[in-house]
Amino acid sequence: MTAIKNTAYIDIPCERCGSKKAIARTWKETIATFTGTTEVEFSQIICTNAECQRLFNENIQKEEKKRNEIKLQREKREKDRKDVLHLRSSQKIKSKI
Ligand SMILES: [Zn+2]
Repeated sequence: MTAIKNTAYIDIPCERCGSKKAIARTWKETIATFTGTTEVEFSQIICTNAECQRLFNENIQKEEKKRNEIKLQREKREKDRKDVLHLRSSQKIKSKI
């Protein structure tokens, strides 16, 4: 999903197929700032070429899946590392005895 702060991008033709773009939806989000909160308007821009937009959505899903896998791998590595550290510290205690 493409979320951008303003709608100026709507005038730029699709970078994939050159078709006109359309605003799929707009929504407001309240974002915390140093001085309080501010309301920011976001727009989801889609391509008016249905086939192009379909491919785009597929790509996003693929990327999300990839990101998820990387995240899981990282979490696993982190866990393995902690296990090794735990093992080392317990070995140290044993050697003192
Ligand atoms: Zn397009």
